[in-house]
Amino acid sequence: MKPIPYGYHSLDPKDIGAVIETLESDIIAQGPAIRRLEEALAAYCRARYAVCVSSGTSALHVACLAAGIRRKDEVITSPITFVASSNCVLYCGGRPVFADIQEETVNIDPDEIRKKITARTSAIIPVHFAGLPCDLARILALAKKNDLMVIEDAAHALGAKYGGSKIGSCRYSDMATFSFHPVKSITTGEGGAITTNSKELYERLLMFRNHGITRDRSRFTASGWRSSGPWYYEMQELGFNYRITDFQCAMGISQLKKLDRFIERRRTIALRYNRAWRDIEGIRLPAEDRSKGSAWHIYVIRLVSPALLSKKKTIVDRLRSEGIIANVHYLPVYLHPYYRRILGYKKGLCPEAERYYEEALTVPLFPRMTEQDVSFVIKTVRKVFETL
Ligand SMILES: *Cc1c(COP(=O)(O)O)cnc(C)c1O
Repeated sequence: MKPIPYGYHSLDPKDIGAVIETLESDIIAQGPAIRRLEEALAAYCRARYAVCVSSGTSALHVACLAAGIRRKDEVITSPITFVASSNCVLYCGGRPVFADIQEETVNIDPDEIRKKITARTSAIIPVHFAGLPCDLARILALAKKNDLMVIEDAAHALGAKYGGSKIGSCRYSDMATFSFHPVKSITTGEGGAITTNSKELYERLLMFRNHGITRDRSRFTASGWRSSGPWYYEMQELGFNYRITDFQCAMGISQLKKLDRFIERRRTIALRYNRAWRDIEGIRLPAEDRSKGSAWHIYVIRLVSPALLSKKKTIVDRLRSEGIIANVHYLPVYLHPYYRRILGYKKGLCPEAERYYEEALTVPLFPRMTEQDVSFVIKTVRKVFETL
C-alpha cells in the first residue's frame, strides 16, 4: 500500500475534462472561465464580489495591498498558521503582531487581540485554523471600535459555516482569502481567491492582481489621456502579476460543484476517528460540539499526557514507518529562523501556541480516502498508541 499523506486532492475525470476543453479553446490564459469561477464562488459564499488569483499567498498579498497596509503598520494575526498569513504583512513593509490562541479552538483569542492593539494597528488577519471558524463577531466588534480592517485567512475554511453564513460571505470582515492548493477544500493546482462586499476593495484587488494597471477610462488620471487612442492604459499603483489561468479556473468551477460533498466526507471521517479513538489515554481529539460549521481541513490529535508528549517523535516515526505520513501543523510562525534572526521575535511570545505545537499531531484526512484507508488509519493509530 502507498503511504497515506495528511492531505490529498480529489480530481475526477470531469475536472480533467474541463481543463482539457479549455486547453483546446482559443484562450488559455485570461479567458471566460476566470469570471465564471469568480461568479460561482461569490454566489457560493453569498459575497458580492470574488477575485481569483494565482495562489492563497497572492490572495493575502493583494488583500493587504487593497486594505492599504503600509510601512510600519502593525497587523495582528495568529501564530498557529502557515507562514503566508503573516508574510503578506511583511511584503507590504508592515509588522506582524502575534496574538496568542485559545487553548480549545486553536484560533486567535479575541482577548489577546485586544491587548495587542496600538495606535499603529491597521488590520487583523484571523485564520480559521483547521477549518474551524474564529469568533468573528467578537473580532469584528474589536475592529469596529478601533477602526481596523479584518481580512480572514480562510485558506482552511472554504465550505465552513459561521452563524448561518458561509465563510467568505464577509458578513464579519472586509475580505476573506482562499487557497486552491491541492490539500485545500478544492483545487486548481495552484490558485486562490478573495471575496468582498466592497466595490472599492474589489476594484483595488483587480488592479493589484494585474501590475496596478487599469483600463477603465473613468479612472484615468494623466493629463491629456483623452488625446490618446484605444491602446492607452495606466499603471496607477505598484501591483503584481498574480493572475490565474483559464484552465485552472475551469478545474475550479468543476471542483466547486463538489465542495459540499467534499466537506461532508471530511466530516464523516473525522467523526469516525473521534468515535474510534475516544478511549485512548493521554490524547485529546477535536471536540465535536465545538466543531460545528468546520470545513475539517485537517484532523489534529493532541498529546496531553507528559508521557506521550515526550514520545511525540517516536509516535510520528512509528506512524510513518507503518505508512501514515503524520505531520505537525504548525510551528508558531515567529519561531522560524527568519522571524527570530532577522526580525527579532523571541520564544515565549505566545505560550499557548508554543504548548499547542508540542502537543499537535496531524493524521490523514481528505475526501478521497477510501473506507479501507480510514479503517487502516484507525487501526494503525490505535496500535501505535497501545504499543509505545
Ligand atoms: C495554504 C495556506 C495559505 C497559502 O496558500 P497557497 O495557495 O499555498 O499560497 C495561506 N494561509 C494558510 C492558513 C494556508 O493553509
